[in-house]
Amino acid sequence: MTFIEQWLRSDIKNLNAYYVPESKNLLKLDAMESPFGVPSDLMGEFLKYIEQAEVNRYPDAESLKLKDTLRSLMNISKESEILLGNGSDELIQLLALACNEGDLIMSFEPSFVMYEMVSKYAHLKYHGIKLDSSFDINLSEAIQTIKSKNPKLIFIAYPNNPTGNAFDYDAILEIIKTSKALVVLDEAYYAYSDRSFLSEISNFSNLVVLRTISKIGFAGLRLGLLIGSKETILQLNKLRLPYNINVLTQASANFLLKDKKRIKKNAELLIGERQRLFEELSAISQLKVLPSQTNFLLINCDNAQSLHNSLVENGILVKGFSSDSGLSDFIRISVSVPNENSTLISAIKDYYG
Ligand SMILES: *Cc1c(COP(=O)(O)O)cnc(C)c1O
Repeated sequence: MTFIEQWLRSDIKNLNAYYVPESKNLLKLDAMESPFGVPSDLMGEFLKYIEQAEVNRYPDAESLKLKDTLRSLMNISKESEILLGNGSDELIQLLALACNEGDLIMSFEPSFVMYEMVSKYAHLKYHGIKLDSSFDINLSEAIQTIKSKNPKLIFIAYPNNPTGNAFDYDAILEIIKTSKALVVLDEAYYAYSDRSFLSEISNFSNLVVLRTISKIGFAGLRLGLLIGSKETILQLNKLRLPYNINVLTQASANFLLKDKKRIKKNAELLIGERQRLFEELSAISQLKVLPSQTNFLLINCDNAQSLHNSLVENGILVKGFSSDSGLSDFIRISVSVPNENSTLISAIKDYYG
């Protein structure tokens, strides 16, 4: 055994690190990234702005200007407070660190894998309640499980990843009302969905909303936000590492997120393309495309594994699922710009001949 193997916590030794597939020279449609980079007409001004960032200094510890920029972009009310993270992943971990050792984290399955991962990092238990056959919440089962297991923290991705649907709003309200847990509504895909729990924060002291700029064009900046009451954020902020939002991220986001109109227009374009992809792929008899409120589509398909491999051979990377995920008959694709979507559609048509 190597030194590190005998030294390390045994439960960590048995984990696999988060897997990111090789994507060099591939059309990248696997990770819900936006296809839109910094617009060329803004590049000069953007670089001038970045030039003023003082990389020899620590960043603004409170990211005050950035919080104002985000408030304006996402219409966050003055009554709520914001905690920033190096991606929302960091905030998911921070929430786990706020629990007592041995507490239970609950979520639904299938959903975002980091909820279970962070529970392991932080010595917590985890329970995933199975979604029903249309990937919605079975409310009576959920309420019963919550009552018997008494979770400390409940993560609900709204809309859900990897299924793409938004769960029933009233079912979630019921969960918030009947549970003593802190309920985290993870709205990573808020820009592609028509409902949000932001306005409910003032109604429930056990509700917080998580958002990120990763799915609206800025995954490379690593910036997520937790929105909650002033009292909640005041306490959780004690767990944040100092200066976690670096100088270049603060400067870039302050500049790029000001362009609210373009961000909105890009999201609208992707919503339109989502509809086109849905219709064109639904016409292929070997596929069943699930309705989506996100910038991706989950597709049930004949020979999913073989289709996935064939797409990679043809230069297109989409997300496939392992056999233990319960989703091995599915692929998940990011919605992109029209020509890239058309490339994908043709490749799938070719595969099924
Ligand atoms: C992509 C995603 C995240 C991660 O966001 P980052 O800000 O990039 O860390 C969180 N939650 C869900 C549901 C996601 O799909």
